[in-house]
Amino acid sequence: MKIIRLFNELLGTYGDRGNAEILQYRLAARNIDCEIIDISYNQKIPTDGDFYLIGGAEDKAQILASKKINENKILKSISEEGKVILAVCAGYQILGESFYAQDEKHEGARIFPIESTPGVGRMVGDLLLETEFAGKLTGFENHGGVTKYLDAKLRPFAKVIKGNGNGDKKVDGAIIRNTFGTYAHGPILARNPKFADYLISLAISSPITELKDSISDQYYQARIKALS
Ligand code: GLN
Repeated sequence: MKIIRLFNELLGTYGDRGNAEILQYRLAARNIDCEIIDISYNQKIPTDGDFYLIGGAEDKAQILASKKINENKILKSISEEGKVILAVCAGYQILGESFYAQDEKHEGARIFPIESTPGVGRMVGDLLLETEFAGKLTGFENHGGVTKYLDAKLRPFAKVIKGNGNGDKKVDGAIIRNTFGTYAHGPILARNPKFADYLISLAISSPITELKDSISDQYYQARIKALS
């Protein structure tokens, strides 16, 4: 399998690159071969990936990354094909209709019917979320933008138990097909092994065996306990 990690040099500020290593580790534990392919913003986005990972960034880098993504509609058609895409924070905002960065409005990739605008202050801190597919999740948020749904039927990524999420302290992120957007850094897949396995089961279109990995499970439980 192929994990496409997009634009590390721009979208690598918050450590989200670690999501790729977690997927690779958990696939290898099921004897599934997998390579991580780093795509620089100067390269074309390959269409033969199984997972696409897009991380968070500071404003300037976010603007450049979105311009590169918008040069063509590749990512939108990858999402429409039902491939697994995980986009965190700036990555999530980029997949919307528009976002603000450096006091200006920028066009997004129009995968999610959302728009992100400047909030009142920066939202920084722990997130405790509740999802339908992987139970409780923890993460870390650090963003100035707040995100509004432009379609009331859009499916949230999670309910917010602690933290801000999209900005209203009620919901975080969005899901469309197998494209997931969230404000949770962490990296989110390192903190939440069940969510990593859920993404793997979507990519291979079948349930996967449970992985006995006491260290990541203990770490997960400890984080949940600390935030509950
Ligand atoms: N620049 C965006 C914001 O502050 C995203 C930040 C991030 O990716 N952590 O809203």
